[in-house]
Amino acid sequence: MSAEPKKAGQSRAAACLFCREPLRDTVVDLGKSPLCETYLEPSQLNDMEPFYPLHAYVCRECWLVQVEKYVTPEGIFTDYPYFSSYSDSWLAHAKRYVDDMMARFRLDASSQVVELGSNDGYLLQYFVQYGVSVLGVEPASNVAEAAIAKGLSTEVAFFGRDTAGRLRDRGLRADLICGNNVLAQVPDVNDFVAGIKLLLADSGVCTIEFPHLVRTVEGNQFDQIYHEHFSYFSLLSVERILAAHGLALFDVEELPTHGGSLRIFACHDDAERLEAPTPEVDELRQREQNLGVESLDYYSTFSARVKKTKRDLLRFLIDANDRGAHVVGYGAPGKGNTLLNYCGIRTDLLAYTVDRNPLKQGRFLPGTHIPIHHPRRIAQTRPDFVLVLPWNLRAEIARQLAFVRDWGGRLVVPIPRLEVLDDVTIGDNA
Ligand SMILES: [Zn+2]
Repeated sequence: MSAEPKKAGQSRAAACLFCREPLRDTVVDLGKSPLCETYLEPSQLNDMEPFYPLHAYVCRECWLVQVEKYVTPEGIFTDYPYFSSYSDSWLAHAKRYVDDMMARFRLDASSQVVELGSNDGYLLQYFVQYGVSVLGVEPASNVAEAAIAKGLSTEVAFFGRDTAGRLRDRGLRADLICGNNVLAQVPDVNDFVAGIKLLLADSGVCTIEFPHLVRTVEGNQFDQIYHEHFSYFSLLSVERILAAHGLALFDVEELPTHGGSLRIFACHDDAERLEAPTPEVDELRQREQNLGVESLDYYSTFSARVKKTKRDLLRFLIDANDRGAHVVGYGAPGKGNTLLNYCGIRTDLLAYTVDRNPLKQGRFLPGTHIPIHHPRRIAQTRPDFVLVLPWNLRAEIARQLAFVRDWGGRLVVPIPRLEVLDDVTIGDNA
């Protein structure tokens, strides 16, 4: 099923990525933004910069929440600046997952594990420690090279029917397929899931992790929405997509990662060892139905809460700057770019940000042109406030930045609501 990116001037309703129904119902309209992973070199600052509508819809037919497609996967994944290994907590999460899967599905040295969107090998390296055969599939060649340098075999390709067929022709079938934070970034979700069906061994298991739509909506996490994230899944919507391709969901776990994620477990729907669904599946299905995830009402107050977050953050930044306070950012995640562009925050309100990823240092945030420095800059300039853009890692970052308190500096998180950490008075006012 092909879905071409929408061209400028095209005004007809886009079609649902899964069921092709026209999209008419808005979840939130975040205006226009540049692609949030396009970090700019100093030499690009005076160039024209493309901005695209960032508008999330819900499909009335299958209830998949999605943004319109303005970007091709090729556009996203050339020179992709995201290396998973830069986050300590993400590495710990990956290691726990591997230990769990080894024990639960009795994997051993004869097993084959395939990871879709394997990035720099942050996860597969732990399977290798168990002696398991691994293969990563990763479209971004610069991050795939980092995995290959670690000795992890990696197919540099987009995943879908074609890649799955090619791997199968080489005699490869996967006992475990894992896809962590990759499904949302797939423009053709039908082709991707059909590929999983093709590559999965008869008794194989597939696990997929993605931010949970319910947490995105209820946690006011509108900055999870960006052009490179095409889909936003509930349990109900992902189960419907899997079922359409002959895969049955049999377990689900709720995880704290990325502001609240789901890890779903699926197998062939005709498998001999088709597992009985766990009580957790039924419980969450019921909870989503009771919340009304498959009704327009559920989405009706989201926009108003997003606008309130913008006003609160701007009020805080304007007040702080009026008082002569020095305000900087921490982190340069994709979500930060949605937030800063939607709120119109530039260097007049936020002097700079920092990031541990050396590929981002020395570059500028897209749209807002806020410079990205090495984290040491914070100790050098001793700011009064540090706005934590990857708020989902606030505990980890608060530990890393504990030294900011030495000169009376404070951390600020913007979501789910503006909060100045360790300072109740300002937090209440803001
Ligand atoms: Zn649909």
